[in-house]
Amino acid sequence: MSDLNANLDRLRPHLERFAKTGVMNRINGQTQPAASGQTFANSSPIDESHICEVARSDASDIDAAARAAAAAFPAWRDMPGTERKKILHRIADAIVERADDIALCECWDTGQAIRFMSKAALRGAENFRFFADRASSARDGQMLPSDTLMNVTTRVPIGPVGVITPWNTPFMLSTWKIAPALAAGCTVVHKPAEFSPLTASLLQEIAEDAGLPPGVWNLVNGLGEEAGKALTEHPDIKAVAFVGESGTGSMIMAQAAPTLKRVHFELGGKNPVIVFEDADLDRALDAAIFMIYSLNGERCTSSSRLLVQSRVADAFLARLRDRVSNIRLGHPLDPKTEVGPLIHKVHFDKVTSYFDIARQDGASITAGGDALNQPGYYVKPTLFEGATNTMRIAQEEIFGPVLTAIEFETEQDAIDIANDTPYGLTAYVWTNDITRAMRVTNSIEAGMIWVNSENVRHLPTPFGGVKASGIGRDGGDWSFEFYMEQKHIGFATGHHKIPRLGA
Ligand code: NAD
Repeated sequence: MSDLNANLDRLRPHLERFAKTGVMNRINGQTQPAASGQTFANSSPIDESHICEVARSDASDIDAAARAAAAAFPAWRDMPGTERKKILHRIADAIVERADDIALCECWDTGQAIRFMSKAALRGAENFRFFADRASSARDGQMLPSDTLMNVTTRVPIGPVGVITPWNTPFMLSTWKIAPALAAGCTVVHKPAEFSPLTASLLQEIAEDAGLPPGVWNLVNGLGEEAGKALTEHPDIKAVAFVGESGTGSMIMAQAAPTLKRVHFELGGKNPVIVFEDADLDRALDAAIFMIYSLNGERCTSSSRLLVQSRVADAFLARLRDRVSNIRLGHPLDPKTEVGPLIHKVHFDKVTSYFDIARQDGASITAGGDALNQPGYYVKPTLFEGATNTMRIAQEEIFGPVLTAIEFETEQDAIDIANDTPYGLTAYVWTNDITRAMRVTNSIEAGMIWVNSENVRHLPTPFGGVKASGIGRDGGDWSFEFYMEQKHIGFATGHHKIPRLGA
């Protein structure tokens, strides 16, 4: 039996279960359909087969979930951090135990290759452990004495929060937002992406099995403009953590404005990988390829613009072309597969529309530029060459296995091109000249920059973007800054003079 068939066999019972039960909501510890009884269909991008029906929730379901989160908040907030820590570690343990199931379901739901998803499930557990270990110190503050007062600060959880996640690596991204919220003492209403609802329901089930009290984490499925919108508008929800497209972020900001919600946005990117002529070109090639073609290119931090210095461009692009044409596109549950199908027909149509756009704008397609003629949304890894930075393929987030290569002459050209985009999430700089690395990283407008490296996530570091790529940072203590409020308390140390009016 091949590995693919073995994986399909292991997946089958999960699919049978989802087909039977559908994906429902989970509110206050109760599994329930949408109050309206409505559902929408969820299908696999691998073969377009129907997986299950999913609760299509509206404002009344969100209201029930937000009320449950508000009712559960005081007890969860007041639980000692050491107790919350234990529960969060138990969730991490259970994720590790079920990592294979999670990875298989994630692949079937999203089209992501199993070679990456098995690691993504384990990273989800790491997110829980990281924030679990910080739960008991999340409230720590400072002592700032003045002449007359003993001033102390502490942090308190902001209240029930809304978490809205996208369809690319939905499991890992959900843990990344929800783990710090719970560690901080917030309760949660989670609205997962409609294209990939399976693993969010597994995750919530794991959490309650691990001892998370009912109402602390409520799951409401549905469409963005219905359930998602209602969540951002609900008065009991004090903050919204959102990962998704920049345009959606701007809608959410407007929706959340009447209730003055705090928002945290992790949005799109059009990230440059800049290869200077003095770089280690072998490593730069490996990293550039990995950062755009892994995860099907459906990755906010993907290196979707390759800026290569003209003196080394011909040789570098020739090697790149060969490698891109060689990337294994196929069934995501086959361990040999490097790129799987895109999430959905809508997204497939968007990504493939850029093939004509590239040609019309005058770029050439030197690898891929085509889809597989079979069911499922398989797009061949694609390379655009001869592009300029004003072309749409250089300005717009395509979010597929599609790389736009642009040549540059000088260091200043590279910086100008890198910054000439509405986005500012990540950048990757390849050079062996340390002072150039310092100058370039100083000038690039991005929230995260890696020098001579692909994106290697280290949880204590800040994750997030500038410009249209986001507002706020995740990771380390930055996550707690979002989910908590600073509180200042001043204790008089003596009888300082109080102004006496009307005396
Ligand atoms: P999307 O914006 O279409 O949807 C994301 C979520 O928002 C979904 O759950 C959707 O239902 C919900 N939503 C849609 N409209 C809404 C509304 N009006 N109110 C409330 N919720 C609404 O994004 P997507 O296509 O699912 O995900 C891909 C995008 O996510 C890309 O742009 C990618 O770069 C970005 N992303 C960013 C990061 C990051 O850390 N910066 C990480 C992953 C993905």
